[in-house]
Amino acid sequence: MAITNPARRDQVLGHFAEGTAEDADRAVSSSHRAWKAWREVPGPERGAILFRAAELLEKRAEEFAFLVSAEQGKILAESRGEVGRAVKELRFAAGEASRMEGWTLPSEKRNGLAMTFREPVGVIASIAPWNFPVLTPVRKIGPALAYGCTTVMKPSNFTPWCSVKLVELFKEAGVPKGVINLVLGSGRGVGEALVKHQLVRAISFTGSTKTGGDINAQAGRRMVRTQLEMGGKNPAVVLSYTDAANIAKQIAQAAFTTTGQRCTAVSRVIVLQSLAAELSEALVGELAAIKVGPAWDPTSKMGPLVTDQHRASVLRNLAMGLDQGARIRFGGRVLEDGELARGNFLEPALIENVSPENVLAKQEVFGPVLSLISVRDANQAIEVANSVEYGLAASVFTRDVDEALRFVRESESGMVHVNHGTNSEAHMPFGGVKGSGLGAYSIGHSNLEFFTNVKAAYFQG
Ligand code: NAD
Repeated sequence: MAITNPARRDQVLGHFAEGTAEDADRAVSSSHRAWKAWREVPGPERGAILFRAAELLEKRAEEFAFLVSAEQGKILAESRGEVGRAVKELRFAAGEASRMEGWTLPSEKRNGLAMTFREPVGVIASIAPWNFPVLTPVRKIGPALAYGCTTVMKPSNFTPWCSVKLVELFKEAGVPKGVINLVLGSGRGVGEALVKHQLVRAISFTGSTKTGGDINAQAGRRMVRTQLEMGGKNPAVVLSYTDAANIAKQIAQAAFTTTGQRCTAVSRVIVLQSLAAELSEALVGELAAIKVGPAWDPTSKMGPLVTDQHRASVLRNLAMGLDQGARIRFGGRVLEDGELARGNFLEPALIENVSPENVLAKQEVFGPVLSLISVRDANQAIEVANSVEYGLAASVFTRDVDEALRFVRESESGMVHVNHGTNSEAHMPFGGVKGSGLGAYSIGHSNLEFFTNVKAAYFQG
């Protein structure tokens, strides 16, 4: 299959294999064979290999950042940020190989000893989307290997290149043959075969809520555990501030980084009526300063959407929202001046007059579209924030500590942020509730729950 540059649809970047169910089967069998030896490698030794991989990735950060920008389209500064974050997460995962702790407990019997051990679950199917083509594969491969599992990686069909290069890098770091297998191909052709495979013992999936639900139904029938990271409709709730410009900057950054194609992107601003006009004005200032352009232009502040079809889907949602009474406050035009006509460019959009029932308040758009929803008071703000099927990340901006604590308690989300945007950190558990996530959180020590089984052992003296 051919992949093209999102900033120049007519530029083919390369041709990649289109795998089949048979390829998936061979890959799983290979990972299963490799697992028997890999699980016996002492944890600190597995960790040392992963630390080497992190070092290699850090050394080649610039090369990987270029790959990310080429196939995904995001501007270089964002790609560099993605690779830097992947290095951090990989280092954390490497350390986890030495932290597979169990418990020792008093026994009911005299001279007895009771303890628990953690054991790797086996072959993991790792299925990733296209928005973070280095970070998401690393987020899955790193912990899987650290805890003694092996994995079959399936990236998105739009972004296979980064995964090919990553797997070469892991091999160079010393990961033995078969411990990581890469299969390129579609969800239908390869993804489904991995999910159904009898030797796959757990599935780590990042992608849409619809696909995650389908995978979970299949996995449930086989008693296979899942780690699902899915969509979001993340709110920034604005209750009070001292400086509207500063809040607007943080919200715009959280909304438009990666062209809004981030699961944790802020897509709803829920603001008190009394502050709406001032905040809206400040947001317009931020959006107007976002220069849209290709990754290789150092003055670009926001890149294109990943594909033309995806841009069309964003525009469809926008049109539906306008039909339902919303109004464009700024932006939202397809950009076709000069060179921009060759790519999937779209102006960042601020939409106002959005009712809580509007499609733009409810559905994940996954593009540079920010909806402004005005509310009477903090009670209504929390009610609206929680009134969606998603529950990934949420921000609150307030100078009142009681209000902040209340929001932290009552927000139906996996991650909550006070007085800053929805950016997470490389060692903190990452995940969502409701339609945004299921299973153990990824990143951080919470991964131990997903990648390992508990074994309870009894000893008698
Ligand atoms: P998607 O669900 O269409 O695809 C994700 C992956 O699943 C791809 O590799 C795809 O080929 C594969 N797939 C598709 N159907 C499958 C099936 N039936 N069985 C097995 N695999 C299958 O999602 P996408 O369009 O690639 O990515 C965008 C979505 O990902 C958005 O909804 C976004 O919110 C979500 N996302 C979530 C997180 C998070 O951590 N919560 C992070 C990034 C992206």
